[in-house]
Amino acid sequence: MEIEMGAKITNPQNPPIRQRTPEPRFADMKINPQILKKLEVLKFTVPTPIQQKTIPLGLEGNDLIGIAQTGTGKTLAFAIPIIQKIIEEKKLALIVLPTRELALQVGEVFQKVGKSLGINTAVLIGGMGFGAQISMIRRHPQVVIGTPGRIIDHVAKRNIRLHACKILVLDEADRMLDMGFAPQIKQILKELEVSKDRQTLLFSATMPDDIANIATKYMKTPVRVEVARAGTVADQIEQEIFFVQKDQKLKLLENLLQEHKGSVLVFARTKYGAQKICKELVMRGYTSAEIHSNRSLMQRKQALDGFKSGKYRALVATDIASRGIDVVGIQLIVNFDMPESAEDYVHRIGRTGRAGQKGRAVSIATVDQKHKIYQIEMLTKTKMKVFGDKKNQPTASQGRPHPSEQRHFFRKRQFRGRGRR
Ligand code: AMP
Repeated sequence: MEIEMGAKITNPQNPPIRQRTPEPRFADMKINPQILKKLEVLKFTVPTPIQQKTIPLGLEGNDLIGIAQTGTGKTLAFAIPIIQKIIEEKKLALIVLPTRELALQVGEVFQKVGKSLGINTAVLIGGMGFGAQISMIRRHPQVVIGTPGRIIDHVAKRNIRLHACKILVLDEADRMLDMGFAPQIKQILKELEVSKDRQTLLFSATMPDDIANIATKYMKTPVRVEVARAGTVADQIEQEIFFVQKDQKLKLLENLLQEHKGSVLVFARTKYGAQKICKELVMRGYTSAEIHSNRSLMQRKQALDGFKSGKYRALVATDIASRGIDVVGIQLIVNFDMPESAEDYVHRIGRTGRAGQKGRAVSIATVDQKHKIYQIEMLTKTKMKVFGDKKNQPTASQGRPHPSEQRHFFRKRQFRGRGRR
């Protein structure tokens, strides 16, 4: 596999890069004028670094591995070349991603940019009946967006055949593998294998061996574009940690809600925890909604829409349910429970400080979780501001994990099964 390293851009809003080079514009990127017009209407004029790198390569038909997280603008980075190839070359595209919310969000982007240009989209996700999805398929969509399980269900029922898809996007590939979707992804890749002229775009926040293996086996000399290291945290996110006793966590959350008047995204470790926090907040008079795997798709959508519209000030989420949440202007993230892995921390706080805005991430921890803080600081290479009882603050040696634990720092957590959180 031939891999060409793209110029390493460490942050989407990295000022040194903007200062060194004239500001790039979508208008200079050989983008179809109809799409450009649409982007202008939507007020997108300056491409983000992942878009600068990916769009020209995508338009040229290259296979591509994009190491980028949500919040970097990666959806438009693949949506623009796909829409252009549909308009100009009548291609069909399949986009596979890990969660229902992400599928709906990507579907919305295609609707916004592509609908008026004649692009027809079908979103195939679990938790919804087959009937409406079959109707969407019958309308001959040029773009099919879906979660691996449901796509395979449709293939098995012969509702859809994938061989005509000439562009395949595997979005958040690392997370799909974490969630146990490897067999479905392999099956999808096999379904598409007949088409040798397929273009494959793979996006992943990290590059574990499994992803490299997929690239070697199923992609044609992919070009690698890296815009952010796995642990990169936007510069404009202020990170704080409060050490408290377990029974003081709710009080601290309430204080934060009183102090901060905007919307707050709260992370809980389990779905039961999320339910409990949400209930407590509602009882204390804060408009709140919850989003986790015990909620139906409709309930999640209603919670997310309500959070976006300001109906709910607080949204309490678990890690998997929150994946890909794209709500503009969340200024405060509260880790009510510390995440299981340092990488989850980066994903969580990536919901704030987007598109150049300021953000604040407050983590609530108990003293026995000091090693987690150390792991996070190792990954993000930033120091967090520590608040709380002086006695409870970690010293360098306390925070440092035991050498046996150190080896597993960057190993990803194994999920115990799909949809448990
Ligand atoms: P994504 O990483 O695709 O989830 O995008 C993150 C956010 O960035 C979304 O709210 C997009 O609407 C926004 N965005 C994407 N591209 C641009 C751009 N070129 N200029 C400004 N905002 C953008």
